[in-house]
Amino acid sequence: MPDFTRWPSFPFEGDMRVKPLAAPVEVEPPRSGEDAADCVACNTPDDAYIWVSERWRVRAMDRPTGLPMVLILECRSHLDLGDLPNLLAAELGVMTVRLERAIRSLDGVARVHVNRWGDGSAHLHLWFLARPYGRLQLRGTFLSLWDDILPVIPEPQWRENLALVAAWLAEFGGQAIAEPPHIQWEAPSTIAYSPTANSSQSASEDRADDLRPATLGDIQPEAIKPEPATKPDAATKPETATKPSPSITADNGNLNYPAVQPQATT
Ligand SMILES: [Zn+2]
Repeated sequence: MPDFTRWPSFPFEGDMRVKPLAAPVEVEPPRSGEDAADCVACNTPDDAYIWVSERWRVRAMDRPTGLPMVLILECRSHLDLGDLPNLLAAELGVMTVRLERAIRSLDGVARVHVNRWGDGSAHLHLWFLARPYGRLQLRGTFLSLWDDILPVIPEPQWRENLALVAAWLAEFGGQAIAEPPHIQWEAPSTIAYSPTANSSQSASEDRADDLRPATLGDIQPEAIKPEPATKPDAATKPETATKPSPSITADNGNLNYPAVQPQATT
């Protein structure tokens, strides 16, 4: 077994063996959405995203997962990373830094890992994975696996964080779509945000796990619907995270590029 199976961050233990390596194919199959007409990103309306601008959009999973925040940055144009014209390539750098800061500003987030794999969907999409504060065991490359292993974070907390990230991004332009969870005044017991306050809901935990999306599997985005919490927090909400103030001056504001329509690939 390779050395990484003995790293503290490796999520598994016990007897394991490496799978046999399949023979290489002569011609690789097309990725999902190679044609813009069949592309999920191109055919998904803005209201399925948490924030949108003229050339960029940010979306979440359709429900919370194990990490405090998992977001995807997409360009509007049907392009992959290597196809970006200079305008979008430059903006990608700015958007990456901006979104990293926004996610890192959330309570309980230590670091944000940025990933682009590109084997699933053809349309450029960058993953932003928040590593919970204090969880040193989750450091590094196995974070995406831990996202499927950790208990799902409470939905109200997740929705509140989505709204905070969207509002942060909107400080620099674009439009925030995600809104904070609606307060249900007629049933105050359902909006308990305390990680330990929902223990009476354990019967719904298994169901919540069944609903866990196939994280990092190029999920089709869905419109985010307000729902009550179904799962108490068990592991991912430390109380001592430091939080930088959302200072606009830390970022030089909006890009001043002229509005240019990037060329499509087809
Ligand atoms: Zn597309």
